[in-house]
Amino acid sequence: MIIDTDPGRQNAAAPAPAIELRGISKAFGPVQANKDISIKVEKGTIHGIIGENGAGKSTLMSILYGFYRADSGQILIDGKLTQIPDSQAAIRAGIGMVFQHFKLVENFTVLENVILGVESGPLLRPSLAKARRSLTQLARDYELNVDPEALIENLSVGHQQRVEILKALYREADILILDEPTGVLTPAEADHLFRILRNLRRQGKTIILITHKLREIMEVTDSVSVMRRGEMIATLRTAETSPQHLAELMVGRKVLLRVDKAPARPGRAVLEVENLRVVDDKGVERLRGIDLTLRAGEILGIAGVAGNGQSELLEVLAGIASGTGTARLNGEALDLSGRRSDGQTRRAAGVAHVPEDRHRRGLILDFTAWENVAFGYHGSPGYQKNALVMDHSAIMADTAAKMERFDVRPPDCRLAAKNFSGGNQQKLVLAREIERNPDLLLIGQPTRGVDIGAIEFIHQRIVALRDAGKAILLVSVELDEILSLSDRIAVMFDGRIMGERPADQTDERELGMMMAGMNGGVA
Ligand code: ADP
Ligand code: MG
Repeated sequence: MIIDTDPGRQNAAAPAPAIELRGISKAFGPVQANKDISIKVEKGTIHGIIGENGAGKSTLMSILYGFYRADSGQILIDGKLTQIPDSQAAIRAGIGMVFQHFKLVENFTVLENVILGVESGPLLRPSLAKARRSLTQLARDYELNVDPEALIENLSVGHQQRVEILKALYREADILILDEPTGVLTPAEADHLFRILRNLRRQGKTIILITHKLREIMEVTDSVSVMRRGEMIATLRTAETSPQHLAELMVGRKVLLRVDKAPARPGRAVLEVENLRVVDDKGVERLRGIDLTLRAGEILGIAGVAGNGQSELLEVLAGIASGTGTARLNGEALDLSGRRSDGQTRRAAGVAHVPEDRHRRGLILDFTAWENVAFGYHGSPGYQKNALVMDHSAIMADTAAKMERFDVRPPDCRLAAKNFSGGNQQKLVLAREIERNPDLLLIGQPTRGVDIGAIEFIHQRIVALRDAGKAILLVSVELDEILSLSDRIAVMFDGRIMGERPADQTDERELGMMMAGMNGGVA
């Protein structure tokens, strides 16, 4: 019997994996970002890496790309032990990476960006023609169409991403790593990206796709590795697993992917909106006459592609943008002048607002959790010692209790908001707004950038608020989220409501048509 002790030797029966990682560990100070990780990725496959925020996915791939050095472990490329001390070495080993945040030069053309760092100085001119030819060829081979002469700053995000891919292919990458590539894309752009990835696979390229979206894993990968808290939990064939199973492996416990809710029992009208209009500071009409009614005990979902007036609708109702028309809360007209102080008046009237952009509007990142929870509510009875002095210890105790109920981790109310993960920041904002027991909750993109475990929790809290008889206006660009949470769905397009449907009498196809501006056929 021959015992193969040479890790570098190829086995004739099975080709060596394109990538093999053995026992990779990496710590950042006290944080063990990767713990003894081993995986193999077969050549010519699309391999997914899935895990919640902070699981260690980006760290692992940054080690493979030579951006970080592992504390221990080995990397084998095509069965050969390979040192990757920096990204130049990674490129020499045939590895290309498309980062979460693109590293393109804005005021350069596509062509210039692609050859940047490969060709240099006096040799630049003659090679431009050659580069243009090979770019055209690559574009043809892989459906990667972009105008080589276009300036990066004029390209959509989806096109900029294609430039990143072209850049890697121009450097003759055989292995392509994409880190959360669809986070910035529209559904149509994401579909196009997946077509490109399948083309690349057909040409024998090996692709690693990092994502936290189960749907993408199921749709496009051949195999998938699950990471949790720095560890590699499992590697599976995609065809032999399910979203439910992957979610459980990611979170480490059973998770409800579907929202569990009883039919709504709508009561009196809480919010009545008529002919609501908003003109932005460039004079463009962003809301062109919105009419809607929202009742106690129901969730009205507003679907639509981002930028069709949903943000303006939330902001004018929250009192932070100005508009015309009428909006009545419990029969009382709301002030639509959008004066700065009006957020305060709204809260007193029973309106809570979880803004879409929680970094800009929801939280002050340098302030502690307890300061953020008091933010906007500092005048509240339980929060003051007397007319002038806030009762810090009372606010801290209240915050700690809220953080416990909302399972905010870590449960430390003295920590600055910026030190919490996206999901936990969102839970802080929700805790502040929901626990005030509002009549009307305005909530935008409730689970953007949030982990599955936290999504389940947030959805349950929204449904619980509905069942307590509150009215909820939900804006989300995630159609899945709209479909699973809403009792009624209105679709916005170009500042108008294109149509409205009971959630159980419509589907993605019909809503998708209205989102594209086609009237789904008013019933
Ligand atoms: P993922 O990509 O799965 O969201 P990351 O690999 O980015 O996870 O992060 C894993 C852990 O390592 C997290 O706790 C993160 O805060 C930490 N981490 C990542 N990069 C650094 C860094 N440069 N310095 C300190 N800690 C880091
Ligand atoms: Mg990451």
